[in-house]
Amino acid sequence: MNTRLWHPFSDMAAVDGNEFVVDRAEGVWVYDEEGRRYLDGCASLWYANAGHGRQEIVQAAMTQMSKLEAYSCFADIANRPALELADRLAALAPVDDARIFFGSGGADAIDTAVKMARGYWQARGEHQRVHVVSRETGYHGTHGYGTSITGIPPNREGWGVLAGENTVAPLHDLDGVEKVFAEVGPERIAAFVVEPVTGAGGVHLPTEGYIEGIAELCRRHGVLLIIDAVIAGFGRLGRWFGIERFGVRPDMITFAKGVTSGYLPLGGVVVSGEVAAPWWTTPGERTLRHGPTYSGHPTCCAAGLATLDVYERENLIPRGEELETPLFEALAPLLQHPYVHEVRAGFGLLAAVELEQDVLDGVPDAPNALLRGARKAGVLVRGLGKGVAVSPPLTVTTDELGLLAEAIRAGLDSLP
Ligand code: PLP
Repeated sequence: MNTRLWHPFSDMAAVDGNEFVVDRAEGVWVYDEEGRRYLDGCASLWYANAGHGRQEIVQAAMTQMSKLEAYSCFADIANRPALELADRLAALAPVDDARIFFGSGGADAIDTAVKMARGYWQARGEHQRVHVVSRETGYHGTHGYGTSITGIPPNREGWGVLAGENTVAPLHDLDGVEKVFAEVGPERIAAFVVEPVTGAGGVHLPTEGYIEGIAELCRRHGVLLIIDAVIAGFGRLGRWFGIERFGVRPDMITFAKGVTSGYLPLGGVVVSGEVAAPWWTTPGERTLRHGPTYSGHPTCCAAGLATLDVYERENLIPRGEELETPLFEALAPLLQHPYVHEVRAGFGLLAAVELEQDVLDGVPDAPNALLRGARKAGVLVRGLGKGVAVSPPLTVTTDELGLLAEAIRAGLDSLP
């Protein structure tokens, strides 16, 4: 054994002693300890939307940290950055009469949202509404509920009995969702949780009418709609929360990642006034007995405010849509490569290049072999089950998208 650091989602027996150590980053470029530079083709883990090395975000966090590094928001205690960030997010979110509940990342946002949905129905006297429906390929973090509702089978397996009652509906199949609703009994369903574009589950772009159809189905049956915008938000789809592109106003939205562009950990839930009402109406009636220590952490919220300032000043949010066609055009020629099964791109600044099945069968750990080949060619991409994903910072140029595609091609050519 050479290292004590256990990496998430990693084959530690293979990683141990073979770490790729990153050292610094600036804009869309990341440098290793030997000073070699790489294009950040995946915004780290879908989060560095504003790009690296933004001194104004660093300064905002440092200023807040030296004034009041942290103080809990439990009971009646608040801090100015948390109050301001909640106001700004509530004004931006496509949710009626929005309230903001903060946590530290996407997984706790999902657990919070699902507990709120269930708590809402308990408070409304519909005690049977505890079931949660999600969809194939969905990824919602690795906490209790996120593990139970994920549509990525290997992430659900190996833990024994999972938390809660859940069903995973088929991908992009409205009739399939309707069937699930009928089988479970819509009166037993608390919420439907869905990413507008699945990210970690393979970058599956929305099919015509699917998200709108889900929203209508939920409305018809009184099921709460929870949009997981942890990846989709903060410009990745060219909007603040991504779901605006479908004209849908959900009951809750989970967010994380881009809210601080990863400068500090922060996530949370946008909650509609209707869902919040049981806890916000009558003093002494009901308390939400849920909340992480760092909810409303002032330094993280100050970083969030500074990040929103960068997005607004540089008009970065629309770039996720402006660059979707250039990204598609850069990657589409890879489809001619004999090892490539599919290129999924053209909606938002994210894409997947999926390998042919015989490559996946024949090359040990082919996605990671491809990732390492692209890295050798100077670009960092992210491994998926059947290929690689790209999701560069919103500041990426079209020329750099070309470099990204060239490096993936070099990675493909390097496969045995
Ligand atoms: N939801 C989605 C859609 C995600 O992509 C992720 C992380 O990638 C999460 C939830 C979990 O977020 P975190 O890793 O911050 O807990």
